[in-house]
Amino acid sequence: MGNIVAIVGRPNVGKSTLFNRLTGTRKAIVNETSGVTRDRNYGKADWNGQEFSVIDTGGYSMNSEDVFDEEIRKQVMLAIDEADAILFVLDVQHGITDLDEAVANILRRSKKKIYLVANKADNSELIYAANEFYSVGIGDAVYPISSVNGSGTGDLLDAVVADFEVKLEEDNEDLPRIAFVGRPNVGKSSTVNALVGIDRNIVTDVAGTTRDSIHTRFQKFGHDFIMVDTAGVRKKPKVTENLEFYSVMRSIRTIESADVCVLILDATRGIEAQDLSILDLIIKNRKGVVIMINKWDLIEKETNTMKDFEQEIRNRMAPFTDVPIVFTSALSKQRLIKVLESAIEVYENRMRKISTSELNKVMQKAIEDFRPPSTKGKFLKIKYMTQLPTLAPTFAFYCNLPQYIKDSYKRYLENQIRKNWEFTGVPIQIFMRKK
Ligand code: GDP
Ligand code: GDP
Repeated sequence: MGNIVAIVGRPNVGKSTLFNRLTGTRKAIVNETSGVTRDRNYGKADWNGQEFSVIDTGGYSMNSEDVFDEEIRKQVMLAIDEADAILFVLDVQHGITDLDEAVANILRRSKKKIYLVANKADNSELIYAANEFYSVGIGDAVYPISSVNGSGTGDLLDAVVADFEVKLEEDNEDLPRIAFVGRPNVGKSSTVNALVGIDRNIVTDVAGTTRDSIHTRFQKFGHDFIMVDTAGVRKKPKVTENLEFYSVMRSIRTIESADVCVLILDATRGIEAQDLSILDLIIKNRKGVVIMINKWDLIEKETNTMKDFEQEIRNRMAPFTDVPIVFTSALSKQRLIKVLESAIEVYENRMRKISTSELNKVMQKAIEDFRPPSTKGKFLKIKYMTQLPTLAPTFAFYCNLPQYIKDSYKRYLENQIRKNWEFTGVPIQIFMRKK
């Protein structure tokens, strides 16, 4: 399970520019991978081989002008709750404003590790000016950086990564870890309670290694797995918190510590932007997915209701549509066992390893049937392929000119893999490598 770094600060200090630099993404690029990339406020970063999550708290839209301060306050509080480290960003070209002070006052009360980042320090004069920020009195140092040209970010990341807590993996490592996620009121606690309530004796609390996750071992009907739950699943939003921000933030830790996530949707609402944001988190973490359409008891049914509903959900999830969808009622416990069975199948799919010889035999044929179209007059040849020994399915294709293989062709390869082997519910990564 990784560390979570949150970027906080008032608008316009450069939070999203810094986020893009850390995660290597650009806002302008949408749908650049085979997965969905609708959520551009959450991403993965890597520094010296240490992977961690980054959240741009400012990326969550604010409602209106008068609740401005209030919104920032909530976002900072949530960041304090959920993140392991906080980057507090200020603007050296602008100096310290009242809003900066307000954010600083909240952060001062937190025990989390905070790094004071003096952004827009684009030249040596501005780097010198950043010393002014020592007066804020937060953190051990001031880190002058320029998110635009990248200077100073290395020193900042060295410090952040050096302070990371080593997070130990829990016991029972060979058991599947399954989590129920979804926005508020979809029925997460009802589902967990219904499963646990089937027989109180089938569950035992497993000592979790982190203060905020509860892991429960579930043994029944031939199933043996760990149900991952975090404090976040149980906590309800207090006031009218920005709901998207709330449910996305609260889901991160749960998703990171699971192998398979059951994404619960509310049948009476269909699939909404927030659900897709959570799906995006799951895909970015390369975890398995089962879609559970809950409260199905509330839907009036005609002949094709279920089929139509399912089709609509798959359309919205495109291009990642090879996912089990189960219609449930947590209230009447209808098909909850089916959800567990699907989750365990997805877990097995995620562990699947295809031998290099079998992979080459099948995929060479697929490539002969449909060759990578030559671009700019270049003849493209894929020579061989192998599944990498990573936890989540990742395939490397060795090719003469990897940079010329288009995303659409990668999607063809992915579909061929899915057609020939069972990877339902599992995001697949495809890399083109030079040979
Ligand atoms: P946010 O509202 O905190 O997310 O701020 P943005 O990332 O949207 O940045 C606000 C403005 O500051 C944009 O015009 C950025 O181009 C600019 N900006 C961000 N970082 C830097 C920097 O390091 N140097 C300079 N000169 N401008 C920056
Ligand atoms: P959570 O916020 O995701 O944990 O959602 P809860 O489990 O607290 O459920 C929110 C509300 O939806 C509660 O009033 C539940 O009784 C209700 N609910 C949950 N599952 C179902 C269901 O399958 N059918 C119906 N009709 N109501 C449900």
